[in-house]
Amino acid sequence: MSGPASLARRLARPEILALPPTDTAAAAAAGGAPIGRSIKLDANENPFAPLVGGGLAASVNRYPEPQPAALRQRLADLYGCAPTQLWATRGSDDAIDLLIRTFCRPGEDSIVIVEPTFTAYAQFARLQGAKVVAARLTEDLQFDCDAVIAACAEARPKLLFLCTPNNPTGTPVEPAEVRRIAAALPDTLVIADEAYIEFSDTPSMVAEVGGNLVVLRTLSKAYGLAGARVGCLIADPEIIEVASRASPPYPLPSLSVAATLDALAAERMPLHTERIARLVADRDMLAERLRAVAEIRSIRTGGNFLFLEVADPAGLAQRLASAGIRLRFRPNAAPGGVRVTVGTEMENAAMLAVFGLAEAVRPSRRAEIVRDTKETRIAVAVDLDRTEPRRIDTGIGFYDHMLDQVAAHGGFALTLACSGDLEIDPHHSIEDIALALGAALKVALGDKRGIGRFGFALPMDEVRAEVLIDLSGRPFSKFEGSFDTPDVGGLPTQMVPHIFRSLADSMGAAIHVKVEGDNDHHKVEGCFKAFGRALRMGLAIEGRGDALPSTKGVL
Ligand code: PMP
Repeated sequence: MSGPASLARRLARPEILALPPTDTAAAAAAGGAPIGRSIKLDANENPFAPLVGGGLAASVNRYPEPQPAALRQRLADLYGCAPTQLWATRGSDDAIDLLIRTFCRPGEDSIVIVEPTFTAYAQFARLQGAKVVAARLTEDLQFDCDAVIAACAEARPKLLFLCTPNNPTGTPVEPAEVRRIAAALPDTLVIADEAYIEFSDTPSMVAEVGGNLVVLRTLSKAYGLAGARVGCLIADPEIIEVASRASPPYPLPSLSVAATLDALAAERMPLHTERIARLVADRDMLAERLRAVAEIRSIRTGGNFLFLEVADPAGLAQRLASAGIRLRFRPNAAPGGVRVTVGTEMENAAMLAVFGLAEAVRPSRRAEIVRDTKETRIAVAVDLDRTEPRRIDTGIGFYDHMLDQVAAHGGFALTLACSGDLEIDPHHSIEDIALALGAALKVALGDKRGIGRFGFALPMDEVRAEVLIDLSGRPFSKFEGSFDTPDVGGLPTQMVPHIFRSLADSMGAAIHVKVEGDNDHHKVEGCFKAFGRALRMGLAIEGRGDALPSTKGVL
């Protein structure tokens, strides 16, 4: 065997090589055969359905596949590698442990880490009886490529862990540095732990995996699935094959696999993108604000966290305790070192207040709705106080265009994606999207304090389209107008009144639409534009911004 094959085998513990690899294909064929189509009397499972509610738990009386094929494929697609290069693990913690158990002989082999860094590398190595050799970041916490290569040249470790961006300092290891290190250390597996890479400007190394370069990824951070415990190891297939020998038979609970596939479904992805961008923007905003605080000596950012050096950590700890806020103190990383995770707007405001940056925060008028039926799966996010992004994918081009008009003229950010049964008819998608969008607008409006509440509008060419709106909490819909053609750009015209009715129902609004003119395209577009304009007036915060525009005292 040549190249990576011999590397994996040369580096692996002999006791591991004596074990059989996990045969994922055979396991998928046997264990993974659809329940109901094969009679499973092979695994001492209990044949009865679990006594728990909810669809997700449907088959937990059966063992999961050792490497669920659908999950492996989804993760491979997500990260841009082949399924054979990927081993799904119980969080990336488990991938770290797996690598150390596969390659490090107790009492003989070592790993190198670059302190200060994530503590689990040393912890798992010590559990395995492997030696831990620590290189260090520079005084000002920069990555020092030469120092790392020199430490490895001396220690000759089986594994080198590079955390990029680094937990807790945020320090990136640039691809050129990873490449240089991997080339300089052909007999060491160079492991880039990219747990926080989605929040970083530094590109991932996944596309370059092979030979001695290994990457770790996790769904815990960017995809909000820490409790599901799903991560992976991405490496040359030979390394995967050898590591599979040290893997427990069923590392991934089926509930976690199902939750993960659900959370990473195509129509959810635009919301993930938006959330990641938001966390990055909030992180940078927090760094900016905290620069004004005298007790903070330095601020670094990297992942979804900030790393501060504070003058009086004990005093800060006391103030945090009385505010009920937990930060992670890392005195070994730097004197006064403390890591702050980016939270929600309200959590961030509470943290800023501990540093004396108190200010009244108006809760953001933002909402995310996930709506699944057998006919459609929809994920929608609206932010009434931002105008970007507008990212809409309904599966019906013209409807995308119409909803874009609503958001653009309404003056709000809209991210919406739908996987629907368009092969049957666009009806389900069109209606359910209107219901989901209306529900999202309703949630985002919250207690409706300060809003304009009413809206009016607008002529368009020869068409006169008028939309009157009252965000009253009481659903009512009236549509006056008719169309000559059955369809405009794939959107059945008879669905247009239906869309406004669905919106009125789910928003809890009175919506009156009146349209007249010659051209149906103009008429449909006029309705949506006018609706956006009317909505803009109704959603806008007016005047002092906290009065409820109703004499009833409730809307
Ligand atoms: N790597 C790094 C750098 C981390 O900070 C963490 C968790 N804090 C992990 C890996 C492990 O994450 P998980 O097991 O949740 O995937």
